[in-house]
Amino acid sequence: MQTAPPRPRGFRLYFNSGSIPFWAVHAAALVGVVVLGFSWSGLLLALGVYYVRMFFLTAGYHRYFAHRSFSTSRWFQLVLAVAGQTCAQMGPLWWAANHRAHHRHSDQEADVHSALQRGFWWSHIGWFMDGQHEGTDFSRVRDLAKYPELVWLNQRSVALLPAVALALGIWAIGGIHGLVWGFFVSTVLLWHGTFTINSLAHLFGSRRYATGDDSRNNGLLALITMGEGWHNNHHHYQSSTRQGFFWWEIDPTYYVLRVFAGLGLIWGLREPPKSVLGSKPALKSVGTQVASIPASSARSGRVA
Ligand SMILES: [Zn+2]
Ligand SMILES: [Zn+2]
Repeated sequence: MQTAPPRPRGFRLYFNSGSIPFWAVHAAALVGVVVLGFSWSGLLLALGVYYVRMFFLTAGYHRYFAHRSFSTSRWFQLVLAVAGQTCAQMGPLWWAANHRAHHRHSDQEADVHSALQRGFWWSHIGWFMDGQHEGTDFSRVRDLAKYPELVWLNQRSVALLPAVALALGIWAIGGIHGLVWGFFVSTVLLWHGTFTINSLAHLFGSRRYATGDDSRNNGLLALITMGEGWHNNHHHYQSSTRQGFFWWEIDPTYYVLRVFAGLGLIWGLREPPKSVLGSKPALKSVGTQVASIPASSARSGRVA
């Protein structure tokens, strides 16, 4: 019987032929900033492109494709897919399938990126570098796979094209200065901003709800990710469009989605019921140690 090749570990996990593009974007950002020098206009451009893309990642990839927390038309679904693909995080079906697996097995052995199981670096970047998660598990995204345009966009050879088109467009308009700040720096920040929800949001922050995993609410991460930092809320009730459950929990993605709903682009935004908001017991802890909670209490939300 043929045995599977051993998974790369240590240095080989993070630095292998598959991770060259990932590190090349980091190198382009770093070398570009060193050569061109710091510029406030560059930083503002990087942050502007960062937050527009972060919105489409959180609103589209996460709250729509992974959780189906609101409804939209087929053409706007396509807009959400292509705009999300400018984030260079593979296709929407790949992303949603892995994310649904994360919720199904949160912080258990089968979780694709559990910081509790395999540490910070694994949850941050290691899980997509070991070659085990390159394919899309279509059994987890049957509801999305019935749209041929989404399946086509999800192909590995196509998935990164919107990001490449964005880079070329910024280069054409803003020259090398625009390319370095508006694409390379912005993309590195966007990647790590996104990855903090897989890593830091399961390590640092407070826990309002006993979710059976290690998810945390973290206001700083919410600012970085336009509202995704309310991760313990989200694990508690996944199908809610908004992740800041109370007015003081800032959730810019949700605010923009409300505007989209007002314009008629989306509808059927889901709210957490009152009974869910007040669920107890609340656990207040900061750091990596929390009381162990039965997993059976965890899955009060649902994935469409
Ligand atoms: Zn989620
Ligand atoms: Zn999580």
